[in-house]
Amino acid sequence: MRIGNRDGRAVLVDPQGGAADVDRASGGRFGPDPQSLLEQWDDFRHWADSWTGSGEPYDEASLLAPVPMPRQSIGIGRNYRAHAAEVGSELPTLPMAFGKFSTCVGPPSGDVVLYSEHVDWEVELVLVIGAETWQVDESHAWQHVAGVTVGQDISDRQVQFSGGINQLALAKSFPGYGRLGPTLVTVDELDDPDSLELRCELNGETVQHAKTSDLIFAVPELISRLSHHFRLLAGDVIWTGTPSGIGMARTPPRYLRVGDDLASSIEGVGAMHHTFVDESTTREDHR
Ligand code: ZN
Repeated sequence: MRIGNRDGRAVLVDPQGGAADVDRASGGRFGPDPQSLLEQWDDFRHWADSWTGSGEPYDEASLLAPVPMPRQSIGIGRNYRAHAAEVGSELPTLPMAFGKFSTCVGPPSGDVVLYSEHVDWEVELVLVIGAETWQVDESHAWQHVAGVTVGQDISDRQVQFSGGINQLALAKSFPGYGRLGPTLVTVDELDDPDSLELRCELNGETVQHAKTSDLIFAVPELISRLSHHFRLLAGDVIWTGTPSGIGMARTPPRYLRVGDDLASSIEGVGAMHHTFVDESTTREDHR
């Protein structure tokens, strides 16, 4: 099952390319708010699995983030060996967790405003939690995941290393720096949810390419360990970390520029496309 967000309304996206409005199809029982479905996830799944209607044609470019305002948005740092190596870090023995504040979430396509000249890319698998989770075992962890989506954890490296400390939350929470989509894909849709191929392409050149089987803390261990420190809530998102190939680690460093085109994808999940613009462009657009 694939769930999208069309103009703030949850839609069921079918393999033939149609989208069905959840609120209308369920007679008002679920939706229209995409975030509210996740708080009634088991009931919604039960209804959606037995629903036999079909969708209407839609334009994928009209989709917004499938999880537009999670109550908690948790980033994970240094969760791939090659990425830890490229930033000169030792391997963590406990997941390195930080807040990537929910107000940064933006749609899976369109323009991204660059707030500085030191902005970097990070493609990631993002987990969407489907049930309150506290002290869960690894063997049950996937059952707490409503689905997954593609994430682009856009990061300002100058802010990140300002003030003598690693400022992850401030560097990664600018408006629009958390891109999610194009849809939430339930775990049963994936052939092997523990081995998903991620790719990030900048102006057509592959800059990141890895599999989630390379994660230091794989999904079950990650959820289990986080859940022993804080409660995860239905609709929360976990950014599982980025593989190697970021711009900061290159010689010389490479950062996003106005006009750049960034494609972020996970095989079997979907692809997002973004273009970078400066602040003045957006002001023109909003006039
Ligand atoms: Zn990241």
